[in-house]
Amino acid sequence: MDKVSPRHPRAESLRTRERLVEGFKAGLVVPAGLAAHGRGEAFDYILGEQTTKHAQRAVEAAAAMLLLAKHPVISVNGNVVALVPAEIVKLAKAANAKIEVNLFHGSVRREAAIAKCLRKHGAKEVLGAGRKFSTRIKEVHSDRRKIDQRGIGAADVVLVPLEDGDRTEALKKLGKRVIAIDLNPMSRTAQAADVTIVDNIVRALPLMVKDAKRLSHGPKTRLHDVVRDFDNEANLGAMLEFMLGRLKNLSK
Ligand code: ATP
Ligand code: MG
Repeated sequence: MDKVSPRHPRAESLRTRERLVEGFKAGLVVPAGLAAHGRGEAFDYILGEQTTKHAQRAVEAAAAMLLLAKHPVISVNGNVVALVPAEIVKLAKAANAKIEVNLFHGSVRREAAIAKCLRKHGAKEVLGAGRKFSTRIKEVHSDRRKIDQRGIGAADVVLVPLEDGDRTEALKKLGKRVIAIDLNPMSRTAQAADVTIVDNIVRALPLMVKDAKRLSHGPKTRLHDVVRDFDNEANLGAMLEFMLGRLKNLSK
């Protein structure tokens, strides 16, 4: 990995970018994944590469929703595994969730590489690799229509970090509750999800693990309160206001 000077103003962002490049070289990430990350980076630049209090609130609601679910599933793709493999495994453990590989640009080899990477980080079971248990979502017209019957097929709550809008909308049509992590509050995914965490996945995932652990020790009524008090539309509006405020300050 090229060394990024710690004095560089975007050091953290560049290190994250390097992780994606490494993931690309390892066969986990596809070229389109690199481009999708760039779209995210642009929004993170506007945010000032920080987790806002609104995002914190969404993280807490997401953790509570995962803990309340009967069959929570975390959907992962190449970018997710290149950036936060250990945190995905930790979150799955903390929320008792299944992990399923779901690729926009699907290939058996890449599915296997992603599953292997997750197992290396301690995952006991990774669904979605191979065809044996796969079924299709007819609303989605890409390889991503494939889902695992034991995973997303049976899920009531699905966490989709870095997901495409077609698929998020299809999951909603199937009656799932969807949690998204997406730096763009205007994307179809961000708009369609029940809880949208507008933050970089590299910052949001460790916070989710922390909240899932903290909330799992408290009473269940507290989880219901957190979910009930969360309004995704209002939260997305607050995130846009925050971005607008940042741009206004910068323009002075
Ligand atoms: P949609 O399909 O939901 O309308 P889109 O077509 O604009 O969105 P996609 O390429 O389908 O975008 O999905 C990539 C999304 O992931 C983008 O919205 C981007 O902001 C977001 N993203 C990329 N990298 C990260 C990251 N590290 N953390 C959080 N979000 C990210
Ligand atoms: Mg898209």
